[in-house]
Amino acid sequence: MKQILNFIQGEYAATDRLFDKHSPLTGEVVAQVHEAGRAEVDAAVAAARAALAGPWGRMSVAERVERLYAVADGIHRRFEEFLAAECQDTGKPRSLASHIDIPRGAANFKVFADVVKNVPTEFFETATPDGRGAINYGWRTPVGVVGVVCPWNLPLLLMTWKVGPALACGNTVVVKPSEETPQTAALLGEVMNEAGIPPGVYNVVHGFGPDSAGEFLTTHPGVDAITFTGETRTGEVIMKAAAQGARPVSLEMGGKNAAIVFDDCDFDAAIEGTMRSVFANCGQVCLGTERVYVQRPLFERFVAALKQQAEALKLGVPDDAATGMGPLISKEHQDKVLSYYRLAAEEGATVVTGGGVPDMGAQLAGGAWVQPTIWTGLPETARVIKEEIFGPCCHIAPFDTEEEVLAKANDNAYGLACAIWTRDLARAHRVAQRMQVGLSWVNSWFLRDLRTPFGGAKQSGIGREGGVHSLEFYTEQKNVCIKL
Ligand code: NAD
Repeated sequence: MKQILNFIQGEYAATDRLFDKHSPLTGEVVAQVHEAGRAEVDAAVAAARAALAGPWGRMSVAERVERLYAVADGIHRRFEEFLAAECQDTGKPRSLASHIDIPRGAANFKVFADVVKNVPTEFFETATPDGRGAINYGWRTPVGVVGVVCPWNLPLLLMTWKVGPALACGNTVVVKPSEETPQTAALLGEVMNEAGIPPGVYNVVHGFGPDSAGEFLTTHPGVDAITFTGETRTGEVIMKAAAQGARPVSLEMGGKNAAIVFDDCDFDAAIEGTMRSVFANCGQVCLGTERVYVQRPLFERFVAALKQQAEALKLGVPDDAATGMGPLISKEHQDKVLSYYRLAAEEGATVVTGGGVPDMGAQLAGGAWVQPTIWTGLPETARVIKEEIFGPCCHIAPFDTEEEVLAKANDNAYGLACAIWTRDLARAHRVAQRMQVGLSWVNSWFLRDLRTPFGGAKQSGIGREGGVHSLEFYTEQKNVCIKL
């Protein structure tokens, strides 16, 4: 049986507490994961702290950047291994992971190395009463040991989105990957060693949240800052943990994102984009769409077209090139999504398509499969419209005016992203600006430039990362004032 180990001080470390990793495709056990206890988390934090004072802490930016380029190259060199591990952990189609997850995993090191290399600090000339003047300049130092707590939906991509900038800024990290997806974080340890990243700079501890590695890491006094991606409820717990010692947190959390389709849109583009935003990664994308609002003249046609395409989606295993959608991450998550499928019916939804479990045949019967699902007819107060489901499903509602749809789309506790489909440029700007979200897409979805600010409004997050914005979290900026 494959063993997934912790990675501490540049070496793999076993423990005597093992938990099973199940395949989302079949439910069978595919690996055993070595859970870190307090002792392993202590060792990982100590290694990270020692590495700050070692060669890593003394390295010039140029040397650090070269090593991070080598990490990116290392991921590309071992692309197939990362791809196989990610697909085994998540069950997602290879076509998706090979285009998004793994390349972005590498890009996160390259892009943030470039940011750190190229971004200048500020400088001010200041008048003094004696006429001699003073100069002020900014000097960035690492925040220290960063605890990185990650979800399972885009494991390598979202983990490196934090580790890339953290290391580029000179920090050291202890990563707690999701218990559902431990493999790629562990594999990255080998790449770090090959790339000449000193021992202790990158550490991985496996386990769960409460009373396990997640809690031990986020409550550890040796951790200087915590960056988290996951559910809003978990984020609240982590924020409380970070309050001990007044440590900074960056929180990227849940979403209940809207797509707004105006009747002047490019219809085919809106259907194509909405298909991806609802069903990509089996609906397990924080930026994905679960609420679709379509202007009334287009409503019937839009519902019919989305239904037709959803029913044409081929559910299957990662290696099948025809697979459009894989399973959910776990049986536990399948239970949650199916509970919302039942709730939709109780709340009075019309099921346009799906709503249950597909027949995948005997071999895949133990997997976490659900049907792509579309509803109409729910009132805006329905829980299915208010709460994040994180599955391959959406509700489609008609609207008449811009004001009306803005009020509906904004009437939600979350505020992560939205997608607006229109050919009217002025309207695109108006709606994009008035949506209470961190990211408004117009005539696109999941088009990302890593230099831009990324994060959520309202209960979707605290803080912005991406490009120079990541520097605000991963460095302490001090002002040096020199009287001339
Ligand atoms: P989760 O909150 O259940 O778990 C995330 C991580 O936190 C896991 O590693 C888990 O073990 C750990 N954890 C859980 N409880 C903890 C505790 N008490 N202390 C410390 N660590 C703890 O989230 P998930 O189910 O893995 O991921 C899905 C969620 O992530 C969805 O809500 C989704 O919207 C969100 N998400 C947000 C973004 C974003 O950028 N805003 C990106 C991806 C996913």
